[in-house]
Formats: sequence, structure tokens, C-alpha cells
Amino acid sequence: MIVGGVAGGATCAARIRRLDEDAEILVLDKGPYVSFANCGLPYYVGDVIRDESNLLLASPDLFRKRFNIEVRTRHEVVAIHRTQRTVTVRDLETGRECEEPYDALVLSPGAAPIRPPLRGIDLPGIFTLRTVPDAREIRNWIDTRRAQKAVIVGGGFIGLEMAENLVHRGMAVTVIEMAAQVMPPLDPEIAEYARQRLESHGVNLVLANRVVAFGQGGDGTLSVCAQDGAEFEADLVVLSIGVRPESQLARNAGIAVGERGGIRVDEQMRTCDPHVWAVGDAVEVKNWVTGKWELMPLAGPANRQGRVAADAICGRETRFRGVQGTAVCGFFGMTVALTGATEKALSSAGMKDFETIYLHPNHHVGYYPGAQAIHLKLIFRKSDGLVLGAQAAGEQGVARRIDVIAQAIQMKATVFDLEEAELCYAPQYGGAKDPVNFAGMIASNVMRGDMELAPWEDLATTSALLLDVRERHEFRAGSIEGAVNIPLGELRERLHELPRSREIWVNCVVGQRAYYAARILAQHGFRVRNLSGGFKTYSAFHPEGVRQPAVV
Ligand SMILES: Cc1cc2nc3c(=O)[nH]c(=O)nc-3n(C[C@H](O)[C@H](O)[C@H](O)COP(=O)(O)OP(=O)(O)OC[C@H]3O[C@@H](n4cnc5c(N)ncnc54)[C@H](O)[C@@H]3O)c2cc1C
Repeated sequence: MIVGGVAGGATCAARIRRLDEDAEILVLDKGPYVSFANCGLPYYVGDVIRDESNLLLASPDLFRKRFNIEVRTRHEVVAIHRTQRTVTVRDLETGRECEEPYDALVLSPGAAPIRPPLRGIDLPGIFTLRTVPDAREIRNWIDTRRAQKAVIVGGGFIGLEMAENLVHRGMAVTVIEMAAQVMPPLDPEIAEYARQRLESHGVNLVLANRVVAFGQGGDGTLSVCAQDGAEFEADLVVLSIGVRPESQLARNAGIAVGERGGIRVDEQMRTCDPHVWAVGDAVEVKNWVTGKWELMPLAGPANRQGRVAADAICGRETRFRGVQGTAVCGFFGMTVALTGATEKALSSAGMKDFETIYLHPNHHVGYYPGAQAIHLKLIFRKSDGLVLGAQAAGEQGVARRIDVIAQAIQMKATVFDLEEAELCYAPQYGGAKDPVNFAGMIASNVMRGDMELAPWEDLATTSALLLDVRERHEFRAGSIEGAVNIPLGELRERLHELPRSREIWVNCVVGQRAYYAARILAQHGFRVRNLSGGFKTYSAFHPEGVRQPAVV
């Protein structure tokens, strides 16, 4: 018996059938649909997906005919009786309840959007987005009210996808985010690229502020009140401030729940009750990079877990490896993606044995038309080079690079493996040295001691000489406050101008010329470090520290 028939539940049901032709399989879902595409909902609101039926991936009828699985929609499981191995099911059409027995019970009830108890939260026009009916209601509201202005509360993945889709519908969009950056899972310097892209498409971003109440005027216009006293008018409000696992049903039955509120499971997705499994957004999972229990409400883990639970029920030994937080989001032509640990996650876990590098390679060779920079951050263990995480932003080729690194992390690869990775190449797809190879090479240079890095966060306090080796015109167009300029081509003749008593921090645009310069200087006995990420990273995150025009 499977509770919840979407990502985790539907996968589990179909897999059980493939393994056991004789099993009696019943899927119960309180909603009107099973196996629908939650991930497509923002695009249905935005009218990119026009036909609602495209979101419905499989019907109860298909489950019956193709898999011999019985699906009952609008049937809510309201209680689990573990000793009797039965559940109480309420038919939401008739209100009638009945008991259904199970041998194995799989809970895949998902997560519920958070609706904090703020003043005015239940006013008409304030929505969350989780189901097809939610998306339909938002569409209807926009159409019937001719909504012009939207406020999105929360600047995470769903919030930003909604921002793009509402702009696509011609609406003026404000995103209010409590953190000082959009996309809170990312490190701030990568999220900065997302901020720039959103603002350049007219999205009004209100960061480091929190919504405290909602009001409504006589004409129905909503007002969204922020903590700092600011008020924003809206015809439509979408709350996308996260989800909480639907674990109450399990909790009521005495099934163990972890400190993050998700159902606790073992590697075979079995709960503390040997006859009950749980998968998807409702469970806590081990992040196997940081070793911490986490909630990871993503479709990939839910699907994989559904399969693992099915295998376990059918007597197979498959195990869930844990999560590493691989995710991607696109808006206004930009893709941001991440995998593994972020710098802030490692720091907050108290981990110190890591190093970060930044690079901005083209997604394919520069001579082939249309090359676009990928802004890439790689995090690895300092002591042995183990790859710990990566984040990237750019227009093209971002997801592919993060996927390669994601798999490297899962295979416990080191930066030396990335250096050696053999990836497909032709001019329109990449480079003979792919961005992933570059990341591996730069990190390997650090590991081998060929290049010492200087973190740009330390620029404000360092006594080192800052040496910019870009060409004069590049330097004049903008440079880091206090830097001196000796273009790389002149460096060998002008070594006598540089101090031997001070450390020298070298920078260029992205770090490549600075690396060449650093190697020249190191071999001439200078103490030298390469400014991590170069001018591009520094200026994206620290515009106030940029001198413009520069004094040479
Ligand atoms: C708008 C949106 C966009 C998303 N985009 C992405 C994306 O791009 N990439 C990504 O990886 N993930 C994305 N996700 C997350 C992804 O959809 C979820 O991680 C995934 O669906 C979780 O699967 P699940 O089986 O745990 O729960 P769900 O798919 O939510 O299914 C749970 C089902 O259980 C039913 N149910 C709950 N309680 C009961 C009960 N007591 N009795 C009967 N039925 C019950 C619910 O009605 C629901 O149909 C998105 C989610 C949303 C909402």
C-alpha cells in the first residue's frame, strides 16, 4: 500500500510491479491526480506550458492497464494502525472511512508549502504552489483580475522560477527574500550573478528583509508589509518560503521522526517499523558530503528512494547512498546549479579542511561563435584534494559541468581526477580542456604547491602588494582599489620594480594570466599568491572596492 502517488510513490508502485507480478498494489492519494509534474507548475502559470493535460504524466487508468496497479485518488489516509497493519482511508468525495490492510506500507506524502501565521495570510490572492489545482487557481486569478503586480515571498528555486514566469505574463514582479542574497542554498558570490540577471530583467529584489503582514484595500489590492516598514502593492502574492515534510501521519502512528521534522529511515528507506517505508520530501536524508541529516525536497532523490523502497519490499539489497544536493534552476536565460557542499555549509559544520577556487571559462572554445562564460566555484578538501562541491552560473553548459562534478563527488573523486576527466569535445560543445578539466587543473596546481591562493575576502586587511597583470586598457577600465599594474608581457623586464620584502598578490580577469605571472615571480624568488577568482569574482561581489577609472 502506497500513500501518495506522485514522484516517490508512483515510482515505487511501478517498480514493485516490475519486480513482482503477483503483488497486490494499492496507491492512495488525497489529491485529484497522481503522477503529475510538480516541477512544471511554474511554467503552466507562466503559460509556457499551455495545456494542463501535459502536466499529467499518468492516469489511474494507465496504472491499471499498464501495471495492474489500483489507484484511488481523493482518498486520504488519516491513520496508520501498526499493530493491526491497517490504515484508515477517508474517501474525500463521500466522507466515508474504511480500513485497508497492508503487508508493506510506503509513505510518500511529500511536503507542504510553509504558510507562516502572519496577519492577513489567508486573504484572497495569496497563493502557494504545490499542486495542479494550485497552479490553475493562480492562472485563473491572474486572468480574471487582470493582475498586473505580483509579490513573491521567498527568493529560492520556486520563487525565482515564478518570477520569470510572471514577468513572462507581463506582470511587474517584486521578490522579497529574508536572506541577503537570492538562492539561499548558494554561496553569495555565485548568487550574485543570479541577482544581476533578475534585476536586469526588471525584477524588483528586496533582500535582507522579511514579510511581517498582509493587508487589503477596498479595491482588493493587497499590501505586503515588510519588517523595515516598507509596503508593496500587489494583485497577487505567491508564498515560496520553503516546505515542511508531511510527517504528521507517521508521527501520530509513533513512527520515529528526526530533528529536522522528516521521517527517519535507514538506507533501504525503512522506518523504525519494519513493515513501513517512507520516501521523498517527507523523509530526512543523510548528506554524505557533510554527514548531516537534512531535508532535501527534490524530485531526483524522491524517485531514487521510491525505487530503493520497492527493491527492499521485494527482497533486494539496494541501498540509498544519501544526497549531495545537486540542483539547477533557470531564469531569463541564466542557469545556476550546484552540487555537494557549499562553502557556507562547510563553515557552519565547523569544517576547515577545504579550499575554494573560482574560474570563468567559456562554455565552448572562444573562436566558435556564441561562447558564454561559466562562472564556476569548486570546493575541495585541502588535505587530499577530494572534491566536495561545486556551484556555477552562466548561460550555456552550466548543468552539464555541474552534473559531471556531481558524479565525480559521488564516486569520491579528487581534483586530480577532474584534471584527467575525458569529456566529449568539438568546438560547438566545449574545449579540448573542458571547464571541468580547468577546474581540476587549477585545484591540482594548488594541491601540488604550484600556486598559492589568496582569498579575496582578505583583501581589505592584507599588507601584500596587489599586482594586476592585465593590459593597461583593461586596468584603466576598472581595477581593485590599491592595485598596481604591470602587464604580463612586461613582467620579466620590470621585476626590479617589485618588493622582495612583501608578499605579492597577483590578479588578472579570471586568474589565468595571474597564474603565469605567479609562476614567473615564484621562480625569481618572490613570495607570491594568486587572487582567487581574479578581478571578475572580486568586482561581481565587491563593486565598492573597484576603482574606476583606474590610476596607473
Ligand atoms: C512548483 C514546484 C517546482 C519544483 N521543481 C523542481 C525541480 O525543478 N527539480 C526538482 O528536483 N524538484 C522540484 N520540485 C520538488 C519535487 O516536485 C518534489 O521533491 C517531489 O515531487 C517529491 O516527491 P514526493 O513523492 O515526496 O511528494 P509529492 O510529489 O509531493 O507527492 C505527494 C503526494 O502525496 C499525497 N498525500 C499526502 N498526504 C497524503 C495522505 N495522508 N493520504 C493520501 N495522499 C496523501 C499528496 O496529495 C501528493 O499528491 C518542485 C516542486 C514544486 C512544488
